[in-house]
Amino acid sequence: MKIKEIRVVEIELNPQPTTKPRTPIKTKEYRLNRPIDMYSTLWEEGRHISSSNWKRPAVIVTAEDGTWGFGLSLYGGPVCRIIEDHFVPNLLGENCMATEKLWDIMVRLSTAFGATGLSSYAISVVDCALWDLKGKLLNKPVYELLGGPQKDKIFCYASGFDQEWYMELGFKATKLFTPYGPEHGLDGIHKLEELVSNTRELIGDNIELMLDAWTNFDVEHTVRVCEKLRPYGLKWMEDYISADDTVGYQTIRERIPWQTLATGEHWYLPTAFANAAGQRLVDIFQPDVLWCGGITSAQKICHIAEAHGISVIAHGGMNYPYGQHLSYAMPAITWGERSEGVSSPGVPLEEMVKIPGTSVIKDGYLVPSDAPGFGLEIDENWIESVMV
Ligand SMILES: [Mg+2]
Repeated sequence: MKIKEIRVVEIELNPQPTTKPRTPIKTKEYRLNRPIDMYSTLWEEGRHISSSNWKRPAVIVTAEDGTWGFGLSLYGGPVCRIIEDHFVPNLLGENCMATEKLWDIMVRLSTAFGATGLSSYAISVVDCALWDLKGKLLNKPVYELLGGPQKDKIFCYASGFDQEWYMELGFKATKLFTPYGPEHGLDGIHKLEELVSNTRELIGDNIELMLDAWTNFDVEHTVRVCEKLRPYGLKWMEDYISADDTVGYQTIRERIPWQTLATGEHWYLPTAFANAAGQRLVDIFQPDVLWCGGITSAQKICHIAEAHGISVIAHGGMNYPYGQHLSYAMPAITWGERSEGVSSPGVPLEEMVKIPGTSVIKDGYLVPSDAPGFGLEIDENWIESVMV
């Protein structure tokens, strides 16, 4: 079956819950600290880059018989250009079932301008659409095409600052972000300890707690924070330094060997994970299936991890059906993360679904839809409604 058409669009997904939150989401109270926050004047002057108007890129890949698959990612503007200018002309007329070959074509086409970063977001959009299409053509859920299911249900954790609400929703594990970075000095370390200590007291000792620094620490600050927080029994420390600082990862591994370490949402394509696995830089890989090159790439990363005894917990894996299907199928994947759009206190998770057909976490566990492809319950009218 050949690819007849690849349509590239920009979309926005903004679920509008009908239930009114009991209290405002705490993410506004504790903003996660990002590398750019070193330059606080950019915030004060209202110039911060997070207000970028890049929308989400999405593609609809249609086969000769009219069956189509849908994929999406982030950073619409430049990602759409990469897909339209470089991928589409080379993929039209190719066998739509040949996901390995098509992934390889996209990686090779991107080599001249860098296949990681924005290019791998572009590869992800197309690859996810191709897997959705393949599942629909074969009338099977994608997790079966990947060799799953491997587990009865996926154990999920919630990321954010509303731990009381997450406990009410039935989560048995939760992750905080660090609102304070090295630029906040000793005062920031004390405030971070207070946040972690209060959270541990709130959730008790039978709930797993993790901490994510969003690549904003340096080696010295990571070591200091982890030593300070050791009494609170963090399950892992995540994304503590810049994704490219391989020597930094080695150094931290050596200086705090007792700390379980996790990273990978800003590593793209399997090679970065293979290098990290070879040096055992971290214990848990966290690729994002919508950023790392799609299902084809994430499956390779899972196989690399499994062969090295490293576990995988896909970044935001429970937010969309793509990560849900991957997590259900892969033995290397142990847990699932719900991050983007965990609801405000009192708002049911069902009301936060961004793509119709997405399975919802119930009492801390998730089972993906068994409908063909990724089980998306969308039609052309829905796509038109989210296009910008
Ligand atoms: Mg993270």
